[in-house]
Amino acid sequence: MLVNMNSGANEEEILEVETWIKNLGYSVYRSIGETNTILGAIGSSNEEFKKFLEALSFVEKVTLDSPPFLLVSREFKKEKTVFKVGDVEIGGGKVILIAGPCAVEGRESYLQAAEAVKAGGADILRGGAYKPRTSPYAFQGLEEEGLKIMAEARDITGLPIVTEVMDQHNVEIVARYADIVQVGARNMQNYKLLTELGQLNKPVLVKRGMSATIEEWLMAAEYLLSQGNKRVILCERGIRTFETTYTRNTLDISAVPIIKELSHLPIFVDPSHGTGRWKLIAPMSLAAVAAGADGLMVEVHNTPKEALCDGSQSLIPEKYSQMVGSLKGVAETVGRTL
Ligand code: PEP
Ligand code: MN
Repeated sequence: MLVNMNSGANEEEILEVETWIKNLGYSVYRSIGETNTILGAIGSSNEEFKKFLEALSFVEKVTLDSPPFLLVSREFKKEKTVFKVGDVEIGGGKVILIAGPCAVEGRESYLQAAEAVKAGGADILRGGAYKPRTSPYAFQGLEEEGLKIMAEARDITGLPIVTEVMDQHNVEIVARYADIVQVGARNMQNYKLLTELGQLNKPVLVKRGMSATIEEWLMAAEYLLSQGNKRVILCERGIRTFETTYTRNTLDISAVPIIKELSHLPIFVDPSHGTGRWKLIAPMSLAAVAAGADGLMVEVHNTPKEALCDGSQSLIPEKYSQMVGSLKGVAETVGRTL
């Protein structure tokens, strides 16, 4: 249920409505908008209560059939969510570029890649220290050593770092190093992990599960917001379809405008995992920015052929810089900067 307060409602009046809602056994969340305050109530809806609240002079309207992803919805919060990670503003006018290798493979190679993507225009560094691999025999990541290398890269470049946390036991250690904690596609429905990250004082980037519907993905974000973490980024990274020969996943560009309509949260696109092929990264990045993406996450590797993970979907630094150059015009066309 959503309760829109009148634009002139004061704190006392808002508190009164919140108390009525709580007394009925609902949980209540407050959204302070530019024009008015909206209260989101979680609990079963009730026509009689709606009438009662609407009779109060400081209540504008009550909506019973609110979306299941109440707190991430535009109905609850009209203004886009904008927040800062270090000096980087997420969800604002600038399209934010996250780049770096799939996995941290070693100190020298990571620091080199970090410097290269910074020179190529990246705002945030990526890298996996805990890797979710299909094969138990594949490289699983350098774990804490990888996190330390990323932290060193942050010190050298001044860029914030984003890295994946794979399970609840590692939340503390990953959060100690990371500026943004990533939930991978395979963990998008790990509700215990989401609940814990909702209580964390760190931004969280939530990849779309490879077979997740838009609603399931938004519900994953709802777990984070319901626990109090409002700094959430959604990241489209392709979904499984019948195509497996020419692309690894099918990148759902339509998710970008859909998410923007349904939610106030920033939406990023990962064309590396979204396609599995480096040649498709530039065209899909252009499409993502044209569709209104707030940011891109791209895998970049100095020597993709030797990569321990996802080399086929990684750009070399030179191609990355070229791509960033080509994105500028599209960004401007849709009223963004790069
Ligand atoms: C990644 O970004 O490192 C990753 C494993 O992506 P995804 O969870 O989207 O597969
Ligand atoms: Mn990868």
